[in-house]
Amino acid sequence: MTTRRSTDLAMQTVSDALGGFLASPPAGTPAEIVELLTLMAGDPGAPLPPRIFFEAVEQSPVAISITDSDAKILYANQAFETLTGYPRDQVLGKNQSILSSNATPDAIYQRLWRTIQVKKAWSGTLVNRTRNGDDYIAAVTVSPVLDHEGEIAFFLGMHRDVTHEHQLETQLRQQKMRIETVLDVAPVLVVLLDESGKVVLDNHEYKKLLGDLRGREPVEVLREALSEQAGFDPVEASREGRSFKDVEVSIEIPGSGGPRWFSCSGTPARESDASARNYFGRNKVNERHLLLLANDITARRREVERAHLENLRARLAEQQMTHGMREALGAAIYQMQGPLNVIQAAIGMLKRGNIEPTTLASMLAEISSSGEQAMETLKAALPEEQREVGVLVNVNELLRQVLEIETDRLLAAGIVVDWRPAHVLPRLNGHKNQLRSMFKHLIDNAILALNETNKTHRELRLSTRTIDDAVEVEFQDNGPGIEPEARFRVFEPFFIGWRNRRGRAGMGLALTQEFVSQHGGSIEIDPDYKEGCRIRISLSAVTVDE
Ligand code: FAD
Repeated sequence: MTTRRSTDLAMQTVSDALGGFLASPPAGTPAEIVELLTLMAGDPGAPLPPRIFFEAVEQSPVAISITDSDAKILYANQAFETLTGYPRDQVLGKNQSILSSNATPDAIYQRLWRTIQVKKAWSGTLVNRTRNGDDYIAAVTVSPVLDHEGEIAFFLGMHRDVTHEHQLETQLRQQKMRIETVLDVAPVLVVLLDESGKVVLDNHEYKKLLGDLRGREPVEVLREALSEQAGFDPVEASREGRSFKDVEVSIEIPGSGGPRWFSCSGTPARESDASARNYFGRNKVNERHLLLLANDITARRREVERAHLENLRARLAEQQMTHGMREALGAAIYQMQGPLNVIQAAIGMLKRGNIEPTTLASMLAEISSSGEQAMETLKAALPEEQREVGVLVNVNELLRQVLEIETDRLLAAGIVVDWRPAHVLPRLNGHKNQLRSMFKHLIDNAILALNETNKTHRELRLSTRTIDDAVEVEFQDNGPGIEPEARFRVFEPFFIGWRNRRGRAGMGLALTQEFVSQHGGSIEIDPDYKEGCRIRISLSAVTVDE
């Protein structure tokens, strides 16, 4: 500081002396000398005397140096001293390479020199080293200063420390990379769109769909699907600040054998205007970008469709069975009518005592033959048992399907269903239709039982659990329950314990027991449950015959 002030004072003294000399040059001073000294002092009347240029360079916050054509430093300003840590008197006469650190590749220096030697300015980034040995990143500009003949006389070097900017930039890049990595591993399509619907950022899933769509922009396809199937354009919605969630749409993918389903969600994201005009944040209207997420739910959708189809099939099979049984029983009644008529006629004749033994014998023969004929017809009408293939079954899924089929009946009877499936169940090798009709029969029984009570709260509890290797299914209703003496008899064929016997064959629990044993399981009525009926079925996870 002291040096600078004394230099300034000396300069001022020289300048004043020159001014005084030039104001009245001694007589006989050669005109060339006066001209040269006038040039050195500058024209006091001119708006910018040359000294101002020197001061401007000297006080500039940018590190400035002037070198000869070999990069030997002739001048360095105050900022150079501050930034590099070298006092000026120590750098004068030294090559600029005192700032070089081995972190800058040689090729960059070569490019710098190739450029400045053809009288062009070079700008670039170098890693410089301070006097203390600390490296910093320098944004450098080197430009040639030409003499009157247009030859390189000096080089002007300017540089500033951009380490902090570089660190920020690197952090930003790393952050972007991290975000992109996270987005890329996400199993969901993610895309950021600007207000005009142009893709600003996307992820791996987006690019995958782009490939599947053979180059058609997925955003365009999804926008079209949302407009047609959900009635809104997502970009428009985002512009209006509206978000949306889990909107399901289907799109056609060339050669994929069916549509692909996506569940789409979108959130408007405010982006600040990065233009120069908005540098001071005067522009209050920020852009609304759209963050669009699309989750491929095709597999789930197909699974739901398959389950619906299976339910429909089960309903149809049940309707067919009921129809077949009605037909068979109708035929049985009709066939039994013939022998019954002959028996009644024979009884009448026997009562009146006017029947010949030969007539009775022929009547008995007729009864026997029409009885046999009826039996034959009935056997023929008996529906054939469907041989079902054993497959891996999920008991929870079957019970859910049956509950769905029974929903209307349960609702009509005012029954509250408490369904508690086990989270994980081993799959059984079993016969789907048999198991389904068995579960249905037990639910039907619960409905019948609850309809025989006057209870206002009617409840059916269904639960599944795993016990060792077996799957246990529990049916519990708060109906009248089963008397202890009937607990085993209910499994006998043709046993009917209902108050209203009409339309009952008494075969349901007998068949259920048969199905259970075919699946290597067991069925029992819980003797300790007194508030209704609790039936437990245990099905072993064993292989059953096909
Ligand atoms: P050097 O051997 O000095 O140079 C490396 C390569 O540069 C050589 O292989 C050669 O191709 C070329 N080269 C060097 N000198 C000359 C020459 N006189 N003529 C033709 N080609 C030559 N460097 C920095 O590291 N930081 C700075 O801030 C910086 N500022 C500069 C400012 C000015 C005005 C000038 C003219 C140069 C500046 N340089 C700066 C470049 C510096 O002069 C060195 O070239 C550089 O530092 C590399 O030094 P080095 O000792 O590692 O290798």
